[in-house]
Amino acid sequence: MKKFIIFLIFLSTVCSFLVIPTQNSCNAFSEATPADTVPSRNYTVVIDAGHGGTDPGSIGYKTKIHEAKLNLKISKMVQKKLEDAGINVVMTRTTDKSLAEGAGKAFKKRDMEMRKKLIKKIRPNMVISIHQNSYTNHSLRGAQVFYDKTSDISKQIAEYIQNEFLQTLNHSNKCTSPGDYFMLKCTSAPSVIVECGFLSNAEEEKLLINEEYQEKIVDCIYMGIVKFLQIK
Ligand SMILES: [Zn+2]
Repeated sequence: MKKFIIFLIFLSTVCSFLVIPTQNSCNAFSEATPADTVPSRNYTVVIDAGHGGTDPGSIGYKTKIHEAKLNLKISKMVQKKLEDAGINVVMTRTTDKSLAEGAGKAFKKRDMEMRKKLIKKIRPNMVISIHQNSYTNHSLRGAQVFYDKTSDISKQIAEYIQNEFLQTLNHSNKCTSPGDYFMLKCTSAPSVIVECGFLSNAEEEKLLINEEYQEKIVDCIYMGIVKFLQIK
């Protein structure tokens, strides 16, 4: 049983085991009209750059780039855009290091628990986890946003970001998906996991390491958050 529980924790925290969703959420989407600026308010977003330290996350199919490195770069770009718009941002990590020391499953669990502890302390209004996906089928590609199915508001944020991906990226996944992942359950505040694309797909990997494409991803995440805030 203990082994099974550890396995479940492992499944819920490692991107490369993300199951391709069968229960997609593709409701009709009503677009809000964006104003010129984000409403001025005291609003805190936690940006969680997935993995780090001895946990590289997914590995690029051709370039062998580490997911953790890309997650941090994209997270910092999102941080800057949000801060420029007057939104408070707290990062779970700002360096290549993870939150815990060590390696292996126990380390991974500790790292995740420390992220949760930090989020609980910050008491943010929203949590955005940034990841890159990977799958054994190398033809799979597309950005996709995951949310906890018990949180309608998380689903709403996921749909706003996914809609931006759909409008901006050529190969975005059409739908958001519910997911049972640790980072979606750290706080009662709405939380989503943004999987920017598949590092296991050679073409998408090439795009994901390209700065221009990264900027497109960041703009989508940013605009999704802004549009969500404007309808609130
Ligand atoms: Zn990941």
